Amino acid sequence: MANRTALMPELSRIEIVDREVPPIDRRQALVRIESVGVCGSDATYFTVGYIGDWVVRGPIVLGHEVAGTVVAVGNDVARVRVGDRVAIEPGTPCRDCADCMSGNYHLCTDLVFLATPPHDGALTQFMALDERNLHLMPDGMSFDEAAMLEPLSVGIWACRRADLRPGDRVLVSGAGPVGILAAQVARAFGASAVRLTDLSPYRLELAASLGFEVEAAGEGGDAPEFDVLLECSGAPTALADGLWRLRNGGRAAMVGMPKQATELPLSRLNVRELSVALVNRYAHTWPTAMALVASGRVDAASIVTHRFALEQTADALLLAKREPRSMKAVVHPQM
Ligand SMILES: [Zn+2]
Ligand SMILES: [Zn+2]
Repeated sequence: MANRTALMPELSRIEIVDREVPPIDRRQALVRIESVGVCGSDATYFTVGYIGDWVVRGPIVLGHEVAGTVVAVGNDVARVRVGDRVAIEPGTPCRDCADCMSGNYHLCTDLVFLATPPHDGALTQFMALDERNLHLMPDGMSFDEAAMLEPLSVGIWACRRADLRPGDRVLVSGAGPVGILAAQVARAFGASAVRLTDLSPYRLELAASLGFEVEAAGEGGDAPEFDVLLECSGAPTALADGLWRLRNGGRAAMVGMPKQATELPLSRLNVRELSVALVNRYAHTWPTAMALVASGRVDAASIVTHRFALEQTADALLLAKREPRSMKAVVHPQM
C-alpha cells in the first residue's frame, strides 16, 4: 500500500513522496486521511519557516485540521472500529504531568502537535493515531466539516476564555476562518448581537451573508457598547482598539497574535475593570464542536471556499496569499 505524502523538504517547496504506511501500536488506529484544512500557521511555515519560537529545521509535513476513516485498529483499541469516520484532535499530551492531570492538557510541556516543528502533520494518505485523539463523526457530517472542528475549537475556547454569557454583545475583530467560526459560536452560546470587523470587503460580505453585523475595520468609533471582544485578526492595534469599545466589566479573549510587541493603554482602561484572556489552542472542545455542527447551529462548511488534490498542496498553501476572495483551502489526500 502506498502512502503518498506532501513533504516540505525546504522552504516554499512541496514534493510528493511515497512513505511507508506507519505501523500502529496497541492503542492506535490507522486512519485514511480524507480532508485537511490549510491553516494560517501552515502557510506561514511554508513561506516564512517559523512562528515565534517554532522553527522548521528539516523536512516536515504540514496540516493539522484533519478528518478521515479508520482502516485498522491496534489490539487494545476500544473507542473506534474499522470503517468509523473520525475527526482528529491534533494535540497528543503526555497525560501524566500536573497540567494534564488538572485538565489543562493543551498546556502540557510535552504536547506533540501535528505540523508544529519538529512533528509531522496530516498532508498524507495514512496516519497512525492514538484512539484518544479520534472523535466519532455523526452520519451526515462531511469530512470537510469535520476537519473544520479544529479551527472551530479555537472559536469555542475563545468564547469560554472570555466567559461569554447569554445576552452579551460581542465584537469579533478579524473575519477570517477563526473569526467567522468564533462569531458563530458566540451566537450559539446566546450572544444577543455579534459584530465582525475586517479590512476585506469580501470577508465582510461573507460574514453578512451569515447574518452578522459587519463593520469596516477602523471605522467603528470608540463608544463602549460591547461586553465581549474576541480578537481574531492579529493586527497590531486590534486588541487595544477593541478593548476601548468594551463596557465596564468587559471581557476579551486574544486569539490573533501580533508579530511585534503591542502597547495597551492600561491606565485608561483600568477604570472599566476589563479582563483579557490569552488563547493557546483549546482543551475539551471536540464534543461541543461536533454538536454545534451536527445540530446546524454552526455552519462549518461556510468557510471552505477552495478544494485541492494532494498534488496541488503548494497551491493550497499559497491560496490566501494569491486569492483575496478566498477563506479556507481544504486538501483531499485521496484525490
Ligand atoms: Zn489551524
Ligand atoms: Zn502532560
